[in-house]
Amino acid sequence: MSASTGMSTAARQVPPRPRIDDSVQHRHPQDELYLRRALETGLTGTAPIVEQYEQRISERYGIKHVLAVSSGSAAVAVALEGVDWEVGDEVIVPPSCPICTVLPLMARGLKPVFCDVRPHNFGLDPEDLARVVSPRTRAIIEVPMWGYPSRADELQGIARSLGVPLILDLAHCHVTRLQGRWLAEFGDIACFSTHEGKFMSTGEGGFVMTNDPARDAKMRAYTRFGNLDGKKVGLNYKLGGLQAAVGLARLDAIDWHLEVRARNRAYLLERIDNPLVRELPIVEGGVINGYALLMQVTRGDGRRFVEHLDAHGIPSDVKKYDNQPLYNYELLAPYRRDCKNARELLRSLTTIPLHPQLSDEDLQHIAATVNAYDG
Ligand SMILES: *Cc1c(COP(=O)(O)O)cnc(C)c1O
Repeated sequence: MSASTGMSTAARQVPPRPRIDDSVQHRHPQDELYLRRALETGLTGTAPIVEQYEQRISERYGIKHVLAVSSGSAAVAVALEGVDWEVGDEVIVPPSCPICTVLPLMARGLKPVFCDVRPHNFGLDPEDLARVVSPRTRAIIEVPMWGYPSRADELQGIARSLGVPLILDLAHCHVTRLQGRWLAEFGDIACFSTHEGKFMSTGEGGFVMTNDPARDAKMRAYTRFGNLDGKKVGLNYKLGGLQAAVGLARLDAIDWHLEVRARNRAYLLERIDNPLVRELPIVEGGVINGYALLMQVTRGDGRRFVEHLDAHGIPSDVKKYDNQPLYNYELLAPYRRDCKNARELLRSLTTIPLHPQLSDEDLQHIAATVNAYDG
């Protein structure tokens, strides 16, 4: 309702354009080549093509053990196998992440404990962390969103001093950097999704990485029925050979994605001069991957900004998923704990696409629409 006033003013200034598509075309010229190789060498989750895929990711990140799994939520479930816990133990999570991160731990009988994030960043707030950590805390999960790094370096130090393992859910943060390193290097375990909607796609899929051989062995066993030795529980969470083949081809496109997305971001930021909005601050020493551009209102209600963009055909993940603190969901209400920074952060921003299919006209339209926002 309130958005309509802003919309009518802006509608006069911004010429109409067809709705911008936020789905990314991931097809790669080498897809068929690798798929054929998979067809010739085997399609199971233990086929050579899967090992090759894991090896390539391991080389890219400089992290020793990489385990390809069937989805991003499988990656979280498997990461939990890399740490020790019993049913009823606690795992610390931010309330600003997708519910996909929290469901795998609930499915295992672990209790999510919500910890607030820092102001204007999706990383966990150290002061609040000190409040929520307990003798039953078995893991801390950090979930930086839309490609923007968190202060995972500081969090790593805190987690170590607490003696609690740090899991990074980097589904949004493929090749995001911090202090000249991969963000993934700051966790005991890092997990990724390669779902079609993510930075890199194998359709469905994910992977988990760690430098710790003991964690790797436990996680790997879990993805293959506990190695079928009848001593421990496990399921089949392996990634199939066809997806690994596509993943191998698409790893080659990562640098191109980084480059084009950085260029699109620079193009937009050069043209955006509306004092009512700014890019979400990037932590010092951090480099985003360009998964999306996060724009934050400097005052007023961010929902009005989201509605304004939507009315002009610019899609937003925040609009699509109605991002709000997870404890607002019925399923998570029992774990409710008001987290002011997370609540305000989610309410202050929107995602703007940066993907390589955007044309100059699309980018000009986005900049003009953002500039026409009048609060
Ligand atoms: C998408 C996502 C997941 C789940 O990944 P799937 O591949 O869809 O299972 C988990 N965590 C985060 C942060 C995500 O964005």
